[in-house]
Amino acid sequence: MSKQKAPRITNMWSKIVDEEKGEWLTKVVLESTKPYKHGARNADGRVIFEGEGVILNMPGGTTEVNDGLLRELIVKQNGKKTVSVEMMLEHPAEFRLTDLKGFPFRVEIALNRSSITKLFSGKKIVIDPGHGGEDTGGKGPVSLQEKDVVIPIAKKLENILRRVNADVVLTRNGDENITREKRFALVKQTGADVYIGVHNRSCDDSNEDGVATLYAPANKQSAILARYVQEGLVNKLKAADRGTAEQAELAAIGGVPAIEAEVLTITNLVEEVFLRGLTVQKRAAEGIFNGLIKYFAQNGANSKGDYS
Ligand SMILES: [Zn+2]
Repeated sequence: MSKQKAPRITNMWSKIVDEEKGEWLTKVVLESTKPYKHGARNADGRVIFEGEGVILNMPGGTTEVNDGLLRELIVKQNGKKTVSVEMMLEHPAEFRLTDLKGFPFRVEIALNRSSITKLFSGKKIVIDPGHGGEDTGGKGPVSLQEKDVVIPIAKKLENILRRVNADVVLTRNGDENITREKRFALVKQTGADVYIGVHNRSCDDSNEDGVATLYAPANKQSAILARYVQEGLVNKLKAADRGTAEQAELAAIGGVPAIEAEVLTITNLVEEVFLRGLTVQKRAAEGIFNGLIKYFAQNGANSKGDYS
């Protein structure tokens, strides 16, 4: 009978929240039947939450988040009545704990995402929706055109990057004809830090699926950027990893790190359906963004942006 009375953690979720005060947070929320004693601390790139006198009444284990700050959540019942939640972070972050009374009782762990904003301070990013106007790009087995996918993904990426105050230049505003030469020339004209082309893969074999990222040949920074973006896309889209490869035409951009993200394979019947979906388009933009976070976190000091 006393066992029935112990508080139980019944649910857990996380989301990115824009607070009215201008704070940008990842919130992790733990729902329980009743209040219990708890605390949290920073340790080795993690925030560790511990609840005492509480029972885990939901599946434990690892949940992937990949929101650019919070990589994953690991929930465990440690001993009879201690529950731990490890928040594995990509970067150090401050946090605060808030109790929200009511039923269910909720503990909210708010992780501050401002370290991400700092990474993009002074960064100029050219986003190139790779097709538009008469250049429709690849075509899906049903009828989807590449230009109708890459333009919305590029706009979603633009919105995410504006949120972190990056300086974003789009090579086309919509379904317009603009030559590749003009789009590439914008990189030099604007003094961009990186060039991100948005594309889909096309294959003769309609069974082929997955994500690939291409990079400017003989450019080490481009290869690194491609690797991070590829990782970001594969993690976000849960798609087959077709790796990174050189793309000779990107050499025309010059020394600026340049990549083409090939977001899923439009010639594959299943992925054509995915690419029509707004959720998948949003995830693709987030995957590219996560790659950029990692790139600027590791290579920011080498780039011409202001790093102090
Ligand atoms: Zn393309």
